[in-house]
Amino acid sequence: MNRWTRLLTPLLILLSLTAQAQAKDPAEKPIQVFVSVLPIKYLVERVGGSHVNARAMVGPGQSPHTYEPTPRQMTELSRAQIYYRIGVSFEQIWMKRIAALNPSLRIVDLRDGIRLRKLEDHHDEEEHNKAGHTEGAYDEDLDPHLWTSPVLARTMADHIRATLAERDPAHAQDYQAGFDSLAADLTALDTRLRTRLARVTHRKFLVFHPSWGYFADTYGLQQLAIEASGKEPGPRSLANIIALARQENIRVIFVQPQFSRTTANTVARAIGGKVIPIDPLAENYIDNLRKAADAFLTSLEN
Ligand SMILES: [Zn+2]
Repeated sequence: MNRWTRLLTPLLILLSLTAQAQAKDPAEKPIQVFVSVLPIKYLVERVGGSHVNARAMVGPGQSPHTYEPTPRQMTELSRAQIYYRIGVSFEQIWMKRIAALNPSLRIVDLRDGIRLRKLEDHHDEEEHNKAGHTEGAYDEDLDPHLWTSPVLARTMADHIRATLAERDPAHAQDYQAGFDSLAADLTALDTRLRTRLARVTHRKFLVFHPSWGYFADTYGLQQLAIEASGKEPGPRSLANIIALARQENIRVIFVQPQFSRTTANTVARAIGGKVIPIDPLAENYIDNLRKAADAFLTSLEN
């Protein structure tokens, strides 16, 4: 073997493997998939690879609590085969309409098989409007931010694998391979987060919007929220939160780009703390959660 052959052989093997992995009938159309939020799009793409074309309803910077689908998305939905829902607020209004308009669309609820938690709520002075939330098998007041736990992300990814394989049995092995690779990454992420967060001294953290409940449950932390169910706190709630933050020696308020920072800034001034942005809805799921964990670590260690 001369030098060039030695260099080229592994490259050629790699190229032919890549070609095999990507080889597919050009007439084969990818499964058109819709999801509600970007982290779920990431899971679908990792499991489905080139066999799926996934789109998220709620784009970067938009809030799944107040979102309204565009006419264009409603048209695209008529050509979709699967919708993965998770229970975010806009689904409560729109899923019924989407289902009625698209009888052949398979709507998969990724909450199935997952034990849901209740949302943190400090709105003791306000009565929540619970009317009209009876649709489906779930209490819509339960926490919909499932994806912030890598453990639950793995459960949802397996559900995605099963439904893609059912829809397209010819590529069941590819979906299994996609899932296996994703599951390995999620397990590594979980191990890293578990190890790092085990050593923090403060276990309570303060957020504006309560997105991190499943994350907190997974790593033995406790989320305190300024706002709940999309509502700003009233003066009494706000005073309670400030008192609680002082009592717990909390110095950081986590905010996310989908919500105004005004109230968080008020609380920060009152407690002499600072506001730190972390985004629970970023598409780059694994890197983003690693970054978020670092932010928690820095603020909870001191
Ligand atoms: Zn939310």
